[in-house]
Amino acid sequence: MRTLQDLVRKNIWALKPYACARDEFKGEASVFLDANENPFGYPYNRYPDPRQTILKSKISRIKGVPAEQILLGNGSDEPIDLTIRIFCEPGIDNMVAIEPTYGMYRVAADINNVEYRPVNLDSKFDIDTDAIKAAVDSNTKVIWLCSPNNPTGNDLSRDRILDILNWFDGIVVLDEAYIDFAGRESWLKELDKFPKLIILQTFSKAWGMASVRCGMAFASKEIISLYNNVKYPYNINLLTQTFVSERLKCIDEKEEWVASILAERSRMATELGKLSTVYEIYPSDANFLLVRVKDANATYRSLIERGVVVRNRNSVTLCGNCLRITIGTKEENETLIKELMVNKE
Ligand SMILES: *Cc1c(COP(=O)(O)O)cnc(C)c1O
Repeated sequence: MRTLQDLVRKNIWALKPYACARDEFKGEASVFLDANENPFGYPYNRYPDPRQTILKSKISRIKGVPAEQILLGNGSDEPIDLTIRIFCEPGIDNMVAIEPTYGMYRVAADINNVEYRPVNLDSKFDIDTDAIKAAVDSNTKVIWLCSPNNPTGNDLSRDRILDILNWFDGIVVLDEAYIDFAGRESWLKELDKFPKLIILQTFSKAWGMASVRCGMAFASKEIISLYNNVKYPYNINLLTQTFVSERLKCIDEKEEWVASILAERSRMATELGKLSTVYEIYPSDANFLLVRVKDANATYRSLIERGVVVRNRNSVTLCGNCLRITIGTKEENETLIKELMVNKE
């Protein structure tokens, strides 16, 4: 059984992190001459809170996770990259992931020169636990799971996630970017039972703030403190911290958006099902539908010509002739259906 220290790269475990001015002095003061800031231009002249205390306390209340178990990043991309940099020795360690899944895990692995071992999902797009276990060896530091999964749209089964969590003694990252669209509880409630579980969520989807770039990682205090040591000190700027804090007050609006997207998702599944060129609509627990059509490349091109952009997933493993269609407004969705009806390819 590997301990957390066994899993962390030696240089990271030994790291003496950068001590920024805002970390060193934490009390109340009226004169700040410690950070070489400009005294004019308040509030943007000041470096932002490196630990995002106010924002995290609000997130903590909404998510039911203590603030010291939260990392905020520049989108989910940041915790994805940090996870690899903390745990994986380039050229030596490896990571195992479901396939197909979110493309950033592999890109971040490639950038860090860490071997990435994709393991195909089964015919129902669920985890093939035996194949995952067979791909793991003593240099496997991280397993990547994404549920609901992108681009397949489905939730992975709880029992199989649990099986992986109980079996693997390394880090399991569970990406819940689409959790608000899935009719189930988050795994956040079980974080304390699994000290090597990292859960990713984001403000980019249900909360409607993709442009703001704010992602969340939830994990044990020990893992969060490793993240804090490695991240850029001021990784979340003041504009983002205050804007997200304000938007968190509008949780009702977020829930209305989610309800509208879910209603449209089921309406779209019905409407798409009526088209002769649509062969299969996969079950979705997310804000998009994966749809298998007669000729994905041709449909993709003809939609583009009409100003409608969907994601062509034709070349993705297990997704031949599939398009990934984001659920938009009722009007946007109707435009898509109309254009698909014109295009009979
Ligand atoms: C969209 C998405 C994210 C969100 O990424 P951000 O960097 O937070 O915008 C994360 N994971 C998956 C699987 C996604 O599809």
